[in-house]
Amino acid sequence: MFDTAIAGSLPKPAWLAETGKLWPLWRGEGADLAQAKLDATLLWIKAQEDAGLAVIGDGEMSRQHFVHGFLERVEGIDFANKVEMGIRNDRYKALVPQVVAPLRLKGRVHATEARFLRAHTTRRTKFTLPGPMTIVDTVADRFYGDRVKMAFAFAELLNEEARALQADGIDVIQFDEPAFNVYMAEAAEWGVAALERAIEGLHCTTAVHICYGYGIEANVKWKATLGEQWRQYEQVFPALANSAIDQVSLECIHSQVPPELMALLKGKDVMVGVIDVASDRIETPEEVADTLALALQYVPREHLIACTNCGLAPMSRAVAEAKLQALGAGARLADQRLGG
Ligand code: ZN
Repeated sequence: MFDTAIAGSLPKPAWLAETGKLWPLWRGEGADLAQAKLDATLLWIKAQEDAGLAVIGDGEMSRQHFVHGFLERVEGIDFANKVEMGIRNDRYKALVPQVVAPLRLKGRVHATEARFLRAHTTRRTKFTLPGPMTIVDTVADRFYGDRVKMAFAFAELLNEEARALQADGIDVIQFDEPAFNVYMAEAAEWGVAALERAIEGLHCTTAVHICYGYGIEANVKWKATLGEQWRQYEQVFPALANSAIDQVSLECIHSQVPPELMALLKGKDVMVGVIDVASDRIETPEEVADTLALALQYVPREHLIACTNCGLAPMSRAVAEAKLQALGAGARLADQRLGG
């Protein structure tokens, strides 16, 4: 049977936060908000199980944004005075917090939602953290003065939290590194090494997600400049193939990524994106199975996992639910076609 999983985020229900936004404001506060986050987590655990997915995530209901959810629990970061900064090589401007002192964890970051996830499904669980290079690209540095040094400082903290997540019973810990597709040379030079620092000593499954971003306008425009073939992965995959990371999540359906680049990940599990996050159109099970068949030309079946291209966060809840269903149904159809 094909394994199935989501890349990470799912839409927050309208009663939890603003909808249709990448940096949504919470609706409530205090204990009410804390309860609402867990209620939303439960709802998405059920939706993933109903879709027949093998690996279940928390849908990132407890964090406002995939990077800042982690940073909020780090000492040495000034959240009160955010500054505007061009991120992902100036693709878009964001209000980011500033690193002003040595970095240290204030305590556990995701204990509540990770333990809640573990307690409410008997299936395998996946938990996502931002990768060191992507974090460095999403904060303003007023202290370290060196991207690599700061990335390794963050990697140490990520490792601390990852070890704790493993102890909470999480089966797969995934680091999100969209920055790998923007700074390819640096990713191969030190980004993968920083990632390996973040997974040091882990015996659970480890993964990295590298995408072309959510389906927001700035990303759609950027993708239009990348030409007929998106070959960014070509520069990073060899370094990942030589790394200790177990799984790599990549974009496939409706992207211009040449599928043969998957072959560069020999020996790794490949989470192939069979669900588009830049379109509200729901994939048919046939399309999902076709994309898996395409991936099978380059990745052995035992290493292939059906996944979404990226997180589904800014989409509507109904669309996201339908896409989860398509993911599960498509993977089952691919199994049937292979006689399994
Ligand atoms: Zn992504």
